[in-house]
Amino acid sequence: MNPPAPTATELEAHPVVQAAFAAAWADSFVDDDALRHEEGGFVYANLDTGEISVRRAPPGETDAIDLSFPTEVGGSFLVATYHTHPHPPDRVWTAEPSPTDRRLAAESGVPWFVISHVGTFVTGPDCRRDGLSGPPGYPTD
Ligand SMILES: [Zn+2]
Repeated sequence: MNPPAPTATELEAHPVVQAAFAAAWADSFVDDDALRHEEGGFVYANLDTGEISVRRAPPGETDAIDLSFPTEVGGSFLVATYHTHPHPPDRVWTAEPSPTDRRLAAESGVPWFVISHVGTFVTGPDCRRDGLSGPPGYPTD
């Protein structure tokens, strides 16, 4: 039996994850029309200790970020991704996970968090598919 992965609900309440969301939001320059861009990264759970840790991805573009290549964290498994949708909701942009976010999250096998002006959304599975086993990055890689 594989150790279970933390659920999206558990991760969203975790102080390390909350701090990572706040840091990504702050670095997205949400109030600056010229500099506003997506930021994000990856959440990991340690197989032995259950410790939650995070790593940032390189900064994204105005309305995109590449989360294809999670950093490997020794002894830990990827359990979620997160990224910002920094645009004001009264523009053409969407605060919620995009159709691409939803598709990639479902394919990736881990929950995807999207942080926006109107709150945090989650899409994809409720927790890492097949628990803490298999490849350390996306379980479907
Ligand atoms: Zn997105």
